[in-house]
Amino acid sequence: MVIMFICKSRARVLAVALGVTMLLSTTACFDEEAPKDKPQVVAAIYPLAFVAERVAGSYADVTTLVPPGVEPHEYELTAAQIASLSTADIVIYQLGISPALDAAIEQNPPKSLVETGSLVALLPADPEEEPGWGEGTDNPSNPLDGGFDPHTWLNPSNMSIFATVFADKLVAADPIHKQEIGGAAETLQRELSQLSQEFRTGLTTCERREFVTSHAAFAYLAIAYDLKQIAIAGISPEDEPSPAQLAEVATLASQAGITTVFYESLVSPEYANMLATELGLKTDVLDPLESITDESLGADYLAVMRSNLEALKAANGCR
Ligand SMILES: [Zn+2]
Repeated sequence: MVIMFICKSRARVLAVALGVTMLLSTTACFDEEAPKDKPQVVAAIYPLAFVAERVAGSYADVTTLVPPGVEPHEYELTAAQIASLSTADIVIYQLGISPALDAAIEQNPPKSLVETGSLVALLPADPEEEPGWGEGTDNPSNPLDGGFDPHTWLNPSNMSIFATVFADKLVAADPIHKQEIGGAAETLQRELSQLSQEFRTGLTTCERREFVTSHAAFAYLAIAYDLKQIAIAGISPEDEPSPAQLAEVATLASQAGITTVFYESLVSPEYANMLATELGLKTDVLDPLESITDESLGADYLAVMRSNLEALKAANGCR
């Protein structure tokens, strides 16, 4: 019975089944790396899992809800994934990226939650509206009545804020590793800051600031580096453009002297191709990092963002 109270179930089963000595069972109990001892982290989408994994290192198990290669805006969670929201030690997610996930989190409140949209100034879904702050912050200035843009991770500075808040939550769950977790967060933040500097330098002198994308995912990146996004579809790639919207994008693209229409791998390039053909332009990939696969142009967030930077520099004639 003593063993039952001290040990995790696997050691208990072993001790009962094999009749091993108390000493052996006790040794198993104090194995620091036993998976069950680690905080369990659930991340909604790849870029948030990237933050969690980099900050946690070996001190947490991180699971990503939206599988690789799956477009998150229309993603429906499995029953097991919904259950994992309330058993996880920490859930990190972005409100508004998937309505099914928003509903699941409301119905299964996690023990500890990092809602990344509440940590930064949100951009409106409608670019004509003024930016505002996320729900739950003290800034009452703007609730963004017309809806907001959930693609907050595409500004590396926002990722740095997520790392700070996630590290605090993880330290609360695992205070013994405060120093290691804090150190990993700082290392990641240095790398994000370096990435941001590369964007600023690389995009300083360009022939134009406008770029055309298939879905309106890049407003946070655009505002951070003084670019202007012209999007064919809306905030969700499922928002198909009307003929009038397509005509407007074509006019804006011509006026701006656009050379390239960007598309992304998870969404059909139908409208990007249509526009490029009509205007005689090139197409290229600009990755909103909603997922990562073997086909992604880089192994992680930092590498894919650098591919995005190179694509933007080439399309916009940056020196
Ligand atoms: Zn998106």
